Amino acid sequence: MGVFARKAYQAAHRLGVTALMRRFQGPRVPVLMYHGVSSKRIGGVLNCEKKHVSAGDFERHLRFLKAHYQVVPLSTYAAMLRGGASPRGCAVVTFDDGYENNRSFAFPLLKKYGVPATVFVTADFVEKGGPLWVDRLAAAFAATALSSWADPSSGTLYPLTSEDEKVAAYLELKSRLKRLGPRDHARAVEDLLRGLGVGPDPGLPRLYAPLKPEQAREMAASGLVEIGSHCCRHLALATLDPDDARREIVSSRERLGALVGKPIECFSYPNGEASPILTGMVEAAGYSCAVAEGLRLDRPGGSRFAIARLALKEDDDEAAVAATLCGLRALGMGR
Ligand SMILES: [Zn+2]
Repeated sequence: MGVFARKAYQAAHRLGVTALMRRFQGPRVPVLMYHGVSSKRIGGVLNCEKKHVSAGDFERHLRFLKAHYQVVPLSTYAAMLRGGASPRGCAVVTFDDGYENNRSFAFPLLKKYGVPATVFVTADFVEKGGPLWVDRLAAAFAATALSSWADPSSGTLYPLTSEDEKVAAYLELKSRLKRLGPRDHARAVEDLLRGLGVGPDPGLPRLYAPLKPEQAREMAASGLVEIGSHCCRHLALATLDPDDARREIVSSRERLGALVGKPIECFSYPNGEASPILTGMVEAAGYSCAVAEGLRLDRPGGSRFAIARLALKEDDDEAAVAATLCGLRALGMGR
């Protein structure tokens, strides 16, 4: 967040603008998207997208949420939308991917504050225990000793001498690889890892570890956490043919339902990308709702199968948290 945005949110918060907006928020609901919670703030290429917030930051977010909103499980919010009940004053907390730190650092805080959450699990990640491809890539960029890497397919030369250069190269290559079909994608990932000279296992930090199946079961049994589906392989569904996309949606629901012994009601699109074809598949598979990215408050009248989410960042102070939750930040003030 830039200095200007920070100061603008602080002024809005001090002058009571965020409180006023919250009062007139009506049925527009902040549905928060987290990925992980770590013991301390982590920087560099390993956490360059700030997917993992520190436990201290997460606790501050929970305290603010608890003081100003009624946090409900996503399935409860979906039931309100379906039944026509007003979700006024509600907020929702969700996690994507299925990291082990959801159990070790987020879950104790959720219990401490009595805040429910929905954890979207990538079935292969948790059942097979291997890392997500994006994390393998980030670990490889963090570990490489190369001072540059030339992409043989495009000829582009990526300098890798500083952390900033590694971050820039990682983000660009990740977004390019995301767009490939599954076979090209797998080969391109392995080629890139080999090219960076770190081998197939660059030594993954604990930050990237998946939930163990028994941890997912334990959280689901607590009643405070509901497990949702984030597909089987965490591939962009738009890159798959329709039958393959449908299989991801249907079979992850079956596998995760068997894993936790409860029906899986909620779905999260990998990369947040929904489309009318995909929302139809998710509804037909028996889910009651699905979340996309959106980067705004969820509004009544939208589809239950493309619920908008927004994210809090780890260096958000109370003013930025308040500005995000009331919708001020989504208006574009220095986002
Ligand atoms: Zn994800």
